Amino acid sequence: MPTRARDREEPRFVADVMLGSLARWLRILGYDVTYDSNLDDADLVERAVREKRIILTRDRRLVERKQARNHLLVDSERLDEQIHQVLGDCGEKVEPDRLFGRCVRCNQPLSELSPEEAADRVPPYVARTQNRFHHCFGCNRVYWRATHVERMLSRLEALGLGKS
Ligand SMILES: [Zn+2]
Repeated sequence: MPTRARDREEPRFVADVMLGSLARWLRILGYDVTYDSNLDDADLVERAVREKRIILTRDRRLVERKQARNHLLVDSERLDEQIHQVLGDCGEKVEPDRLFGRCVRCNQPLSELSPEEAADRVPPYVARTQNRFHHCFGCNRVYWRATHVERMLSRLEALGLGKS
């Protein structure tokens, strides 16, 4: 069972190389997730201990390491079930307000961008139809709520993780 650094503190994660999609989605949902395909198992465990992160993995051998106690062994191969398990085991829920808290690509916290500022940085259709935008200072990407995000949120809601 994963333990948190302190009570009420939101969980932070480090995902192993097999769990790239899960890592991206947890970032979309606002969580701090380290994901780096260059980390080997030893680096990953070391990083988890040092930064008090929960290790997300599907590798049973990895979690047998003594240092890897704070882990969550992911059961399913399906992304929606994986998200469901991680949030469920950590006592978390999908909070729409926290969506786009972090950059999917670099895990940096995002800041809000006004529609005027976003207008010439997104496709015209998006500028016309969306009114909330977020921006990453790390990679300069602009984010908005896209249909694939809506679809995933509905799937998570169907799994019982939606807003209550
Ligand atoms: Zn970024």
